[in-house]
Amino acid sequence: MKKFRSLLTLITLLMLVSFYSCSEDDMPDLELGTVVAVDPSLFLEGTTVTTVSCTLSDGTVTTCYRIVAGTPTDHDMGPWCPDNITDGEEAGGIWLENGEVYDVDGEFIKNLATFYNDQNWLMYDANGDIYVTDSEDDCINAANPNVGAEYRNYCVECIPEYITGLTQTWLIPTTPVKLTNSASFAGMGAGASGPAIRGIAFNGVEFSASAPVDNILGAYTIAPFDDAGGHINVHQGYHYHAATGASEQVIQGDGHAAMIGYAADGHGIYEQLNNDGNEPDDLDSCRGHSDDIRGYHYHVDAPGSNNFINCLYGAYVK
Ligand SMILES: [Zn+2]
Ligand SMILES: [Zn+2]
Repeated sequence: MKKFRSLLTLITLLMLVSFYSCSEDDMPDLELGTVVAVDPSLFLEGTTVTTVSCTLSDGTVTTCYRIVAGTPTDHDMGPWCPDNITDGEEAGGIWLENGEVYDVDGEFIKNLATFYNDQNWLMYDANGDIYVTDSEDDCINAANPNVGAEYRNYCVECIPEYITGLTQTWLIPTTPVKLTNSASFAGMGAGASGPAIRGIAFNGVEFSASAPVDNILGAYTIAPFDDAGGHINVHQGYHYHAATGASEQVIQGDGHAAMIGYAADGHGIYEQLNNDGNEPDDLDSCRGHSDDIRGYHYHVDAPGSNNFINCLYGAYVK
């Protein structure tokens, strides 16, 4: 069944390419608009993909893939918080600050007061043991910015056991519809009505909105991401805030950045950098651009930026 779907996608693509190639000489590239359908066979075992009818944000009545996913099957989750200030980097995850990725090892926790130039940071006891949330209640309460001072100076982690059986359901158009105007993500300013999630990795894990780092730090807590850029909350489950190259990739044969998933509008999402180590220099305000092979697609932001893409240039499911 999956091969059959891939074949259909390929045929659709070839038809589009041959159709457009007739008029290639007298139209600029962007007008040609190669459209690449979503390939449902790229989603990994552990995700369930079905086709449903849907209406997109621009009024297009079409079909969408309904993707149901739980936790990633292609890499481990965690660790997030080290136990002691002598622990090495393998005992913890990462923290994102000012565009940089920092290992959350014991030394990082030990030096928080210096790192943030604020003597209120002290996340370990006289033995060097780090204050880590150790129950589901604690991980929920400590992640709430309105919580009282008793959760100050905690390294917050919610572990996979708290979300056993939790699934998320995503709807993305089977064929993306490019729009002239970009749509802002929900929560990004007045009038922003787009989806909250940026997209989905091939393992079904969401590329999330920016983590609310200011709130987290304001409560003198750290909620690290694992080396894959993900962490857990009990409502969303496991989700990514950075693309670190840990999830399934589709390598491109032409030196282009590898594909890592789909945006909420069905356009492909690729790694930030092409194989030559450079970010494409023609990205639009959403971090997208077009080429003849991939059609319109996005390149994610740097892993340290706590951001994937800035907006959508395609219709999405409301
Ligand atoms: Zn998060
Ligand atoms: Zn590209």
